[in-house]
Amino acid sequence: GVAMIRAYHAARGDHGRRKMLIPAAAHGTNPASAQMAGFAVVEIPNLVDGDLDMAFLDQHLGPDVAGIMLTNPSTLGVFERRIADIAARVHGAGGLLYYDGANLNAILGRVQPGQMGFDVMHLNLHKTFATPHGGGGPGAGAVAVQEHLRPFLPLPTVLREGEGALHWMTEQEAPRSIGRLSAYGGNIGVLLRAHAYLRRLGRVGVGRVSAYAALNANYLLKELQRVGYQAAFPERRASHEFILTVSDLQKATGIRALDVAKRLLDFGIHAPTIYFPQLVPECLLIEPTETESKATLDRFVAVMAQIRQEALAQPELLREAPHHLPVGRLDEALAARHLDVAAAQ
Ligand SMILES: *Cc1c(COP(=O)(O)O)cnc(C)c1O
Repeated sequence: GVAMIRAYHAARGDHGRRKMLIPAAAHGTNPASAQMAGFAVVEIPNLVDGDLDMAFLDQHLGPDVAGIMLTNPSTLGVFERRIADIAARVHGAGGLLYYDGANLNAILGRVQPGQMGFDVMHLNLHKTFATPHGGGGPGAGAVAVQEHLRPFLPLPTVLREGEGALHWMTEQEAPRSIGRLSAYGGNIGVLLRAHAYLRRLGRVGVGRVSAYAALNANYLLKELQRVGYQAAFPERRASHEFILTVSDLQKATGIRALDVAKRLLDFGIHAPTIYFPQLVPECLLIEPTETESKATLDRFVAVMAQIRQEALAQPELLREAPHHLPVGRLDEALAARHLDVAAAQ
């Protein structure tokens, strides 16, 4: 997607656009992709309510800006409310908008990235649409573009003219394409699974996914606040995920997000992502998804409530967790450098 933005500006003879704007809260893959495509990354701060700093954005827009990369809802778990305004300003300065589709679960069937003003996007098919993220499987990301970026799509791309048969476009048919990328058909297992998932849900079902994902996240957020946890953005509604911070526990007892996550393992619960986004200290990023039942969510709340009581009353218990697994607290640096998968039992 970033390579297509580069090709678009180059095709117009607009060679001075060297900068890519990216929010401070962004996933590391965004600045990494921009850097790989030869852009200089400019980090835009997020305000305390999670939205982008518009004044900073305005200061940095100009004829040297290629575009902006955003996730919406953002990695802070909130919907960027001024997206239309951001799109107008970036387009006004001649830049393009790149949509990172990682958080698509929140908006499925509700709003199209194109309607928000995005020119190009990718779908993180290895984490949405049925493939569990972190499962160790291969990455796969379809890209989608607005009409003006179509000539730059990578190859091989399938074309059908009228009612004719499908065929793979050649380099001659797509002379401005950014060219071939990676394996010919991509990671086909991930792609097929996503396809089957979408076909099975249909248009109506896809809307249900975002409805339940958002409902589950907001229910969980309120329940966890009720049992004493602090939301990172208490004034904001959750998207399909939300962020808690346990810096209050850290101040009171030294207990950290890592200790809470390790203790969850003792209850047979897969711990949520911790310490991401890096902007929020001692954070847990909780994404229940559309598939968890109310009973499962309630059990999670009960366990989290118990863990909070333990943190206050007997912090040692958390600091040494997990207690009920074959492997206790690992020295993670040592485990990464001297991997030994056989000796644990
Ligand atoms: C997960 C994620 C990505 C992609 O990261 P991978 O390591 O490829 O899974 C990109 N952006 C955001 C916001 C994400 O959450």
